[in-house]
Amino acid sequence: MSNKQVVYNVAIYLRLSKDDGDNIESESITNQRKIIKDYINKHQEMKLYNEYVDDGYSGANFNRPAFNKMLRDIEAKKVNMVITKNLARLGRNYIETGSYIEKYFPDHRVRYIAILDRVDNFKDSVNNDFIPIKSVFNEKHCRDTSVAVKKTKRRKMQEGFYACTTAPFGYKKDLDNSGKLIIDEESSNTVKKIFELKEQGYTTPQIVKYLDSNHYKTPAEYLNIKGLENVKDKNVWRRSSVTRILGNKVYLGHCIRGKSQNISYKSKDRIYVKRNDFIIIENTHEPIISEETFNKVHNINKYGTIQAHNGTNYLFRDFVYCKNCGKKLIFKKERKKVYIYCRTNSENSKLCNNGCKINYEQVEDRIFEFIVHMYKEYFENSKSKDNLYKKYTESTIKEEVNNLESLKGDLRKINFKITSLYNQRLSDNIKEVDYKDRYNTLSVQRKDTTEKISQIEKEIEDNKLKLSTLNQKKIILKKVSKLEKDDLKKFNMGELIKKIEVFEREIYIYFNFSDSEIIKF
Ligand SMILES: [Zn+2]
Repeated sequence: MSNKQVVYNVAIYLRLSKDDGDNIESESITNQRKIIKDYINKHQEMKLYNEYVDDGYSGANFNRPAFNKMLRDIEAKKVNMVITKNLARLGRNYIETGSYIEKYFPDHRVRYIAILDRVDNFKDSVNNDFIPIKSVFNEKHCRDTSVAVKKTKRRKMQEGFYACTTAPFGYKKDLDNSGKLIIDEESSNTVKKIFELKEQGYTTPQIVKYLDSNHYKTPAEYLNIKGLENVKDKNVWRRSSVTRILGNKVYLGHCIRGKSQNISYKSKDRIYVKRNDFIIIENTHEPIISEETFNKVHNINKYGTIQAHNGTNYLFRDFVYCKNCGKKLIFKKERKKVYIYCRTNSENSKLCNNGCKINYEQVEDRIFEFIVHMYKEYFENSKSKDNLYKKYTESTIKEEVNNLESLKGDLRKINFKITSLYNQRLSDNIKEVDYKDRYNTLSVQRKDTTEKISQIEKEIEDNKLKLSTLNQKKIILKKVSKLEKDDLKKFNMGELIKKIEVFEREIYIYFNFSDSEIIKF
């Protein structure tokens, strides 16, 4: 045997379960085994190490005994190649399956082959895109692929191949000439419609509304990926999808690569590459939109709303959230005024019904007003909530301390009784049965008393904390009260405020040291 020849110690992985339904015949263990063994026989460099059979285990998760045994053998370096008949044999949960193929196997230098799907993770060719898997994977998966793979892909992009996971919305990949984009009739009509509406002067929210009410399929819906039931509201159009489509030069027939991905159904994981990292190759496929329309649409965009700059003047910028969906509110400047909105709601009101649009300066003013009011109440009104609360807490602590002392006395008595009972038993002054009886009674008492003690100790701690919080509040309010509104801008609001939530015309302020307060507009 030549030294240079890599020898693969092959693990055959076979799996069958009820979820294979009608395919039970073609998917039978015997059939899987035969296909894989034929394959190994044709490849000299492959030597069968072992076969791992999970008969009766679902592919929905990886909680399978034989699979786990195989992983142990991989980790013990007994196996450096895994073969399955097809991808579904490895798993039906695409995300987890992909993580094995894209992460675990490469990390362990394991070559993985799914014969019928023509997947081989050691080969990086355009023909070898893990189409069934990649079609459901997003950026996260792209990020995980090795640098070498990325480099090859980049080179291919420069050659004009559409080498990435899925075709952009409006196109499909030519299966006879993979890497090349061809127009997908149905979704390309949606793209055309979006540009047409924009050209007619529709705003993005109006376009969203139009697409929704006319039941146009969304990009996520269009992918219609099996096994991805967790895509939330995939049939709902989002402003961001429309914006992305309107800005994508792929519709002009150019190939824009180097960007993480075009279609994303998991927006929070999206990663973007800086603009100058994009590669644009012109005229690689048939355009859907004319240059003229594209430019026209982008002139309209120029007059759209302008994002407020990242000024530090927005005192509560880091504190305002949507009460309904929990997302941070966005700041937008419109005609010299700054408004706060819920981004989710502006994407599509079906996703969050918080249609708040409040002038931010008004919010600041109202909160300052409230702080002043709080200060007055605190320092000028002896019967204020805080003062009453303080008095109440102080007397509660006093009561609890007394209680604690008497319970500690009880405990000492019980312990004394237990000790003397034990001595009685040692000197045979009491029978075993009676001893046990009395001991049990006393130990139950001891347990109860000990529990009560720790509970009261905790209550005392809590109340002391409340008192110190009240004192802290006093200190901060004193500090705040001496400041004018302009000085307040330099004040660290985090000392005073935990969070501000907005719902329509209501503002909920959560202070660091008291209950939440609601301000209505
Ligand atoms: Zn919201």
